Amino acid sequence: MTTIAFIGLGNMGGGMAANLAQAGHVVQAFDLSKDAVEKAVGAGCVAAQSMLDAVDGADVVVTMLPAGQHVRGIYLGDDGIIANAADGTLLIDSSTIDIDSARTVIDAANAKGLKMVDAPVSGGVAAAAAGTLTFMVGGTDAAFAGAKPYLYIMGKNIFHAGAAGNGQVAKVCNNMLLGIHMIGTCEAFSLAEKLGLDAQTFYDISSTASGQNWSMTSYCPAPGPVPTAPSNNNYKPGFSAAMMLKDLRLAADASSAAKAATPLGAQAEALYALMESAGKDDLDFSGIMKLINGSL
Ligand code: NAD
Repeated sequence: MTTIAFIGLGNMGGGMAANLAQAGHVVQAFDLSKDAVEKAVGAGCVAAQSMLDAVDGADVVVTMLPAGQHVRGIYLGDDGIIANAADGTLLIDSSTIDIDSARTVIDAANAKGLKMVDAPVSGGVAAAAAGTLTFMVGGTDAAFAGAKPYLYIMGKNIFHAGAAGNGQVAKVCNNMLLGIHMIGTCEAFSLAEKLGLDAQTFYDISSTASGQNWSMTSYCPAPGPVPTAPSNNNYKPGFSAAMMLKDLRLAADASSAAKAATPLGAQAEALYALMESAGKDDLDFSGIMKLINGSL
């Protein structure tokens, strides 16, 4: 049994903290939202009064926060986790954040002799609750080995992507590709329909031909062919267009810093920004079908 500080008990963190508690660990839970803390207590966690109260006596710290500024804010500085965690504490940040922030925070932890990994996830709220997330992990071999047993409680597939920050690299590159092939899939289904080919027939053909891809076969943006897809539920998320846009913006920033050419990623970002400016970014990201076929 390990004492774990869990900070950031939102849509994702709430389920992840509950799984750690249900596995028999003592989970000292903190969030700025009192409701979120109460919910975590209902799921077997112990309420902490502050971030540092959560970290007090913890062997492991897990954070699941919105963005880089929040992660830097709670890890760095005199009042931060790194300055106040006991020697030997293992730090795991599972937030999706910019690569620079991830590397800055891990460097600071390592400078203090603390092991730390960036471990962003793929899989949504349902996977967080079910303990079936995919983790993409960056950090030293020793830090990865330390984190693995806890990640396996919260997830099913755990990958070591390399050095610090490489978890975030894997995450933004994967989600940039996802955004691009989702939009391509929407274009193909929309064009097929306008040319007189119904979605099911096109699906039957393309899903066994060279156009086949995950957005089509697991998450088809055209209603009908994949019954569990959000397209059959008025594009209720799922994974919202707002979250996809967040990841595409992270990819664009990283691409620009690396002087990489990612023209389709940039186009995907621009199209999801149109969903945002239309006030429709609360739809599932496959709802970009409505922008493409003119029904937004
Ligand atoms: P969320 O907004 O539901 O939860 C974030 C929580 O962090 C909130 O409860 C907020 O009160 C808390 N918080 C913010 N600053 C804090 C601080 N200083 N101290 C304590 N608590 C603080 O977000 P989420 O959907 O759970 O996502 C969390 C992370 O996971 C994000 O980086 C997101 O990009 C990533 N992610 C989300 C999904 C998804 O489907 N929701 C999927 C994959 C990855």
